[in-house]
Amino acid sequence: MKHGSYSRCSTALQCGHLYHLKYELGWRTETRQKAPTLGSWVHAGLEAAVRAHPLVSGQPGAPVRDALRNISGVSVLHDRNEYPEVEIEGEGAMDDLCDLATSITHRVIDSAGIADGRWETIELDGVPLIEHKLEVPIPGTDIPFIGIIDWCARDTDTGLVWLIDWKVRGNFNDEESESFDPQMALYQHMLKMHGIEVAGTCTYQIRNRELAVPKMLKNGTAMSRGAIATDWPTYRQAVIDAGLYVCDYHDMEAKLKPFDRPVFVHRGADVCEGVWEQMSEMSCAQAIAPLTIWKWRNLSSFSCPRCDFREPCIEGLAGREVDPKLYGITTPKERGDA
Ligand code: SF4
Repeated sequence: MKHGSYSRCSTALQCGHLYHLKYELGWRTETRQKAPTLGSWVHAGLEAAVRAHPLVSGQPGAPVRDALRNISGVSVLHDRNEYPEVEIEGEGAMDDLCDLATSITHRVIDSAGIADGRWETIELDGVPLIEHKLEVPIPGTDIPFIGIIDWCARDTDTGLVWLIDWKVRGNFNDEESESFDPQMALYQHMLKMHGIEVAGTCTYQIRNRELAVPKMLKNGTAMSRGAIATDWPTYRQAVIDAGLYVCDYHDMEAKLKPFDRPVFVHRGADVCEGVWEQMSEMSCAQAIAPLTIWKWRNLSSFSCPRCDFREPCIEGLAGREVDPKLYGITTPKERGDA
C-alpha cells in the first residue's frame, strides 16, 4: 500500500471483498470515467476562480469581475492533463456541458461572494490551500494518509476559517444530513495536525442545472406558481416579460428552490480526532496485514446490485475461476502500473 485514504477505509467498511479487488488486486473497470463530468468541470472552474482572486494572486485592486469573467474549468482540466483523450473544443455535447459548467461556475463566483472578496485563502507553508493534497503519517507505519481538500478560506466578514467542499447536485441535502460527514471531520483534523484550526466545514451545494424560467398557465392569464429551481430576479423578469404585475407574485420569492445552499457545520475537535483515530487504525491494519482481514463479502441487497465487480464476485463466490478481462476489468500489470 502506497498511501491510506478515506475512500480506502470507507470501501473496506462497505465490503471487505470489494476493498480486496479494488485496492489489493488493483482491479479497475474499463467503463471508468473518460470525460469530465459537470461536477468536475464546475470544481475546476471554481478552483481557477479562487486561485485568480487578488487575495490569492497578490494583485489588489484588479478588476475582479473582469478577471473572473473568462474563467472556466477547461483550462484547469487540460493543464492537469486529467482527460487527455477528450478534445473539448467542437465536441458538441461536450461543448454544451462545458457551457453549462461555465455558467454555473460564474453564478457561484457571485453567490458565494468570491468576486466580492468575501474569502481569503489560507496558506500552508506559503502554498494556498486550494485543491490541496494534505498528507499526514499513518501512526505505526512510514506510509502517508492522503486527503484532498477543495478550499480552506477565512470568511472576512466573521474572521472564521472554514474548510469548503463544493458539491454539484440535483437535490440538496438538509442540514441534519450534512451535519455528520466523517470525511469532512477527518480533513478538519488533518488540517489541525498541520496547525490550521478551522471553525468547521461548509458543504457548498450547487444546483446542477441552469435556472428555470417559469411558464405561463395554459389559459395564458397568469404565471405558474410551481416551486421551480430559479432565483427571484429570473422569476421576476419572466413576470415582467409576460406583461403581468410583479406585486401579484411577491410571495413566490420565498417559495423558489435556491440555486445554491451552503451548509456550515461547526464541529468539535474531539469528534474530528475520534474519526481520525478510527481511520488511521484501519489504515495501519490495511498496510500491515494485507490480504488477510479485508476479504469478506458483505453480500448486501443494497450494495451488491450497484457494485462494478458484481459478476466476477459472484463467479468467485460459486468457486469458479475468474478471468477479470472477461468482465472488462484491467489489472495493474495490464495498465503498466504494477
Ligand atoms: S458484489 Fe457485493 S460482495 Fe461482491 S464485491 Fe461487490 S459489494 Fe462486495
